[in-house]
Amino acid sequence: MAWRSTGTSNSELVENMARHGLLKDARVKEAFLNVDRAHYAPEMAYEDAPQPIGYGATISAPHMHATAMENLVDYMVPTANRPAPRVLDIGSGSGYLTHLMAELVGDKGLVVGVEHIKQLKELGEKNMKKSKEGREFVDSGKVKFTVGDGRKGWVEEPREGEEAGGEGWDAIHVGASAKEVHEELLAQLKSPGRLFIPVDDDIGGWDQHVWNIDKDENGKITRTKLFGVRYVPLTDAPKY
Ligand code: SAH
Repeated sequence: MAWRSTGTSNSELVENMARHGLLKDARVKEAFLNVDRAHYAPEMAYEDAPQPIGYGATISAPHMHATAMENLVDYMVPTANRPAPRVLDIGSGSGYLTHLMAELVGDKGLVVGVEHIKQLKELGEKNMKKSKEGREFVDSGKVKFTVGDGRKGWVEEPREGEEAGGEGWDAIHVGASAKEVHEELLAQLKSPGRLFIPVDDDIGGWDQHVWNIDKDENGKITRTKLFGVRYVPLTDAPKY
């Protein structure tokens, strides 16, 4: 799947992903068209491959971001029951996925990117400010980047004007492979809500699978194993 959607421009990359069935949802495709990956990838921005962004981190391949967005989209868009979607992006790295998510959450929505490396938190913010739209997201408070240990999730007060009591997350994306599904993440998931998380398999050490973990409106949890991946691990913060 990797590589074959590579294009010479952002729109060509997006159209190739759509043609290969990686972008099925029109709302997700639109988000990808609106965000130039060149603001986030250090080089060869329209190649469908991961790239190092420093500090042992990588910007994931576009097709991986497409898959994450497709799996989370229904939990990120505003609805009558969810007028102000709240989305958490753990291991925000380059900030690219954080920006794509912000395209979906509507005027009242909130996207928080959590990084345990301060320099990467700053990189995400800097990258987002390269575009007018991205600057507006940060300036309006719709997007926030924070430093923290994503294994504990993140508690963020409702934005000004929003009802209190809605501190949980409608959608949580984890961009690094976890040793386990951390209890804090499940606890912070709203009912309904979805957690998209790569988790190390029990045996083997190197193998990982992405899971959708859904909490329904009654709080019932359902776990669905999606596909195998190779992500960098969710770890203790290194000293830089
Ligand atoms: N989604 C991002 C980055 C993916 S790389 C992108 O595509 O650009 C995974 C990121 O997870 C790295 O930036 C790494 O610093 C971060 N990370 C690893 N362990 C973490 C932890 N415990 N808490 C927060 N971030 C963590």
